[in-house]
Amino acid sequence: AEGKKASFYEINREAAAFFYRNFTKKANPAYDYMIKRGLEPATLKKFGIGYADEEWDSLLNYFLDKGVKPELLLELGLVSESKGKFYDKFRDRVMFPIINTRGKVIGFGGRTLHDGTPKYLNSPESPVFSKKNNLYGLNLTRQDINKENYAILVEGYMDVISLYQHGIRNVSASLGTALTENQAAMLKRYTDHIVLSYDADSAGQAAAARGLDILHKTGCKVKVLHVTDGKDPDEFIKKNGKEKFLKLVNEAMPFAEYKIHLLKQRLDIGTTEGSVTFLQEAAHILKDVSPVEADIYIKKIAKETKISEGAIRLEIYGNNNSEPIRTP
Ligand code: ATP
Ligand code: MN
Ligand code: MN
Ligand code: MN
Repeated sequence: AEGKKASFYEINREAAAFFYRNFTKKANPAYDYMIKRGLEPATLKKFGIGYADEEWDSLLNYFLDKGVKPELLLELGLVSESKGKFYDKFRDRVMFPIINTRGKVIGFGGRTLHDGTPKYLNSPESPVFSKKNNLYGLNLTRQDINKENYAILVEGYMDVISLYQHGIRNVSASLGTALTENQAAMLKRYTDHIVLSYDADSAGQAAAARGLDILHKTGCKVKVLHVTDGKDPDEFIKKNGKEKFLKLVNEAMPFAEYKIHLLKQRLDIGTTEGSVTFLQEAAHILKDVSPVEADIYIKKIAKETKISEGAIRLEIYGNNNSEPIRTP
């Protein structure tokens, strides 16, 4: 089984080299597309970006000539099969090789060059590719994550590459799925400070809310960043540059603040019922944070809900001992 795994890695590596040659050795629409999106040749090289051409059998024939069995290509999701015939799965797409922290090519993401769907086609799960156990870009960025002592977690390949090119190298992305506990544990080997920087749309925000809980549960100190211009970190940094993005990182909302922000969106604190529920749920969140941090939110909430700080403390701690001691 280990021998078979080794040959899967080898096939993926050769496929990545094949796509890379298509991308660099002759004129092709993928290269033009990536340049037009602002990426530099050095960046494209660093990430091993490639091109799967529009033929139905280029990669297949390349491997058949080498004596590789198509069944192996099928297991890796490099080809598909219909009525006993094999054909290339990735056609006319920009190819993003996904490389694990041991430097092995484990799969691919392929982006269409047109408006066609799906926008991204990713390798299926295979004997060497498990989406929930890997993160995109970590092979290149884990030292920077370790050095900076925080990681910026984004949604997409393009976000990772774009931030990287702008000099923000402590970045990684989950692989088109919700963040998993395994991925959180993986990041925690390099840092326990995570800044979630997902897309501004509602799907991105929902994913951020879920990622937040998973990272918090794993014991990470997590913050949520909001891109204020453009729909994702790639668009933001292209328009505004590195320093403005770092400013957003600085202003990212800490876990408790973001959770309370979500509560406020969900509940109407203008009504008695709403403010009671809000207070109970906020108390539940604040139980988990340091008393000093909690104090800041308690004061804010008291102001906003016109409920006394003492009552809020009672709700959080079951007593109001944290109330400053007053001398008569
Ligand atoms: P672009 O800037 O070209 O739109 P993006 O990275 O911003 O790329 P999104 O649509 O925001 O694209 O998607 C974010 C990530 O989600 C992608 O990088 C990819 O990993 C994954 N993804 C998007 N669409 C699909 C899809 N149809 N199937 C599988 N994964 C997808
Ligand atoms: Mn999106
Ligand atoms: Mn994008
Ligand atoms: Mn996006």
